[in-house]
Amino acid sequence: MRAILKLKCGYNQNMKSIVEGGGTGDYVPTYNKKRQFQDLLSHKNDFLKNQEKKEALKIIYSELEDFLEDQTPDFDEFMEVIGRLYINGFEICDDFMETYGWGIYLGPSIMDHSCQPTAEVSFDGNMLTVTSIKDVEDLSEVYISYCDSTQPTPIRQEELYSMYFFMCACCKCSHSAHHGKHGTNIASNNKNSSRKKNHKKK
Ligand SMILES: [Zn+2]
Repeated sequence: MRAILKLKCGYNQNMKSIVEGGGTGDYVPTYNKKRQFQDLLSHKNDFLKNQEKKEALKIIYSELEDFLEDQTPDFDEFMEVIGRLYINGFEICDDFMETYGWGIYLGPSIMDHSCQPTAEVSFDGNMLTVTSIKDVEDLSEVYISYCDSTQPTPIRQEELYSMYFFMCACCKCSHSAHHGKHGTNIASNNKNSSRKKNHKKK
């Protein structure tokens, strides 16, 4: 609800959808254009294809209607917003890995996943810091882990697919597949298919 109200704040008559609201966006190193909420992927259709997720989302939508009444966006617009929140949200946790919040960080949400990450994310209050843990030349080599990368490959893959709708094909996953520990239906890790992060600093 807060996200929708925030987007509505930045919304004006010239915009087609509240997804275009939410401010001018975040600077991303080496990118010419600021990254805005509308640039994030929602995976709306993937969410709706899953009956269980669809039912849960309908419940959230009806609860939202109770609060926002005639301010409620239509279901399609709601899905565009909540899909972006689920796919791109960061779990905010302390040094003891206790989660105390959840947030959208437009710039950092550009980082893709690898089960062998080259960077990790930490928080000081709401301040997000990305620290490289391997030598990286530029942003294209920066990967964080969206899941617990110490888990066995099938568990990681299942979690990544169920939460972010992609099959990871990173080195670690591919290596595992070649050694027969996992099935052969590993699709390409489409770099545009998922942007985020329910991960914790490892
Ligand atoms: Zn992987």
